[in-house]
Amino acid sequence: MSSTQDLDYPQILFQYNNGFLVSKIMFTACELGVFDLLLESEGPLSSDAIAERLGTSASGMERLLDACVGLKLLGVEMKSEGAFYRNTELSNLYLTKSSPKSQYHNLMYYSKTIYLCWHYLTDAVRDGKNQYERAFGVSSKDLFGALYRSEEEMIKFMYGLNAIWSICGRDVIAAFDLSAFTVIYDLGGCAGGLAQECISLYPNSTVTIYDLPKVVQVAKERFVPPEEHRITFHEGDFFKDPIPEADLYILARILHDWADDKCMQLLAKIHKASKPGGGVLLVETLLNEDKTGPIETQLYSMNMLVQAEGKERTPSEYSKLLTAAGFREIQVKKTGKLYDAILGRK
Ligand code: SAM
Repeated sequence: MSSTQDLDYPQILFQYNNGFLVSKIMFTACELGVFDLLLESEGPLSSDAIAERLGTSASGMERLLDACVGLKLLGVEMKSEGAFYRNTELSNLYLTKSSPKSQYHNLMYYSKTIYLCWHYLTDAVRDGKNQYERAFGVSSKDLFGALYRSEEEMIKFMYGLNAIWSICGRDVIAAFDLSAFTVIYDLGGCAGGLAQECISLYPNSTVTIYDLPKVVQVAKERFVPPEEHRITFHEGDFFKDPIPEADLYILARILHDWADDKCMQLLAKIHKASKPGGGVLLVETLLNEDKTGPIETQLYSMNMLVQAEGKERTPSEYSKLLTAAGFREIQVKKTGKLYDAILGRK
């Protein structure tokens, strides 16, 4: 805060205080289908009409819609019959289920899973570890055993994580010219959003999604069309099972899940498997070296505390891990979006 006026009226504190109310309003409007209904409707709708179509109370819906207007997620028009609501461009593009850039599943994962873990943030800071036992009553000994505590949770996770690649995937895959790498393994490739971006940008590439067997099964059944022959699958545990030889290994949001010793173990294994001249592409959100931000990455690092075993890191922290595993010629590219790219060579 720079001036006394700011201290007299600490608006920023009120904003932070209300941060979770804002999130919940957006999640609730998404979950109830407000944005989907307004996308499908011929024109703006009244609050009563929306409430009736979505099976909610009239009083609750009116307040929800007004709050969405305040948040610029909806527009409103006053007519003689009353208020009529419509989607903004932002909500049409990102908050409707049918949009190719939909973030609906990501928001639902936040609302239904991450939100519950954050209830125990104070405990997470005290304990220095994730909060699966308190939040969901499951052991956190096996991280992905806890994350995938039911098939339903695993599928929600896969949809939730995949959503961001429709916005940021092209930028991270295009951050370096990867055209020389034709045999690519996406380790922990999950639902395949990045694999799809990769084959679409590099016509000579094939990408193998390497992931835990039950994740691969769901990726095949629900995410990657069977006619997509340039995407193949490999079921395995990258800590325990062999990693096949390839030109390039993608590790997108993998290292941030794990503490340094596990990262080192995995990177050393990849280095051994890699062809000479081969590469490893890390896709992560990067912290500033001087600890000043970006705030999104700092928030995600807190999330790694409540939800995983790792943390977000700076470019120099990733470079150190890569160098220790034997990689060289390390280059860092910031994309200006949420996720950045780091390339190392064997
Ligand atoms: N790369 C994907 C992305 O960025 O959307 C998914 C990232 S997610 C945070 C971590 C992925 O690693 C999940 O798909 C998970 O199933 C996979 N994974 C975790 N442990 C694994 C292991 N031991 N072997 C193989 N895959 C694993």
